[in-house]
Amino acid sequence: MTKRIGLLGGTFNPIHNGHLQLANFVRQQLQLDVMQLLPNHLPPHKEQPLVTAKHRLAMTEAAVNDQPRLEVNAIELGRQQPSYSVDTLRQLRQQHPEDRLFFTMGMDSFVKLSSWYQWQDLLNYCHLVVCQRPGDQIPEQGPEALLWQQFGLSISELSNLPIAGHIVCLDNPLWPISSTEIRQQLLHGACASQLLPPTVAQYVADHQLYQQ
Ligand code: ATP
Repeated sequence: MTKRIGLLGGTFNPIHNGHLQLANFVRQQLQLDVMQLLPNHLPPHKEQPLVTAKHRLAMTEAAVNDQPRLEVNAIELGRQQPSYSVDTLRQLRQQHPEDRLFFTMGMDSFVKLSSWYQWQDLLNYCHLVVCQRPGDQIPEQGPEALLWQQFGLSISELSNLPIAGHIVCLDNPLWPISSTEIRQQLLHGACASQLLPPTVAQYVADHQLYQQ
């Protein structure tokens, strides 16, 4: 029996309620067997996080502990080089030759996709699932717009999909939460507990993360 596997890569610095809402929304809409969260080791497109990969992994594990069908996959933490998604997806495709893989991202990531390493190969290994995020919209021109025009599908066309090769853009509610905002709040002494899963808020407090 083939599976439908969702994948959500991120720095999770820290993981927040927006990530969980995104993961659960995609899991339900696409009727996934599982949604895997993949913390990266060295994010290629961001400043290197001050909080270690070990802490980010532990927070991600704490966040999904009580979430059915959400799992953590630490595949990127085993590699010392930058965590290029294309390498991860190639590896996952080898492990799951017949399953449908749905690599999920927010619109802020999709609008910059053409800056990713070997971005044109991504659809060889997976489908892309793009969710709305405040501040960004589906591009009207440029390489991402062309990619969307060529490979975009509506959700009603999802039933008979091949294992990879298409892009689906979901009409999700907006979740105005970012790790950047949470780091700022914690730095200024706020607890940010409204924006974090309770287990993550507790982990941050116990380890005194993101403070001055
Ligand atoms: P930072 O503020 O440090 O840039 P972030 O909040 O964007 O971090 P990441 O770990 O970089 O968090 O995000 C991982 C993935 O989740 C990205 O594809 C991002 O677009 C998506 N994502 C994160 N938060 C949201 C959100 N609130 N709504 C929709 N997508 C989101």
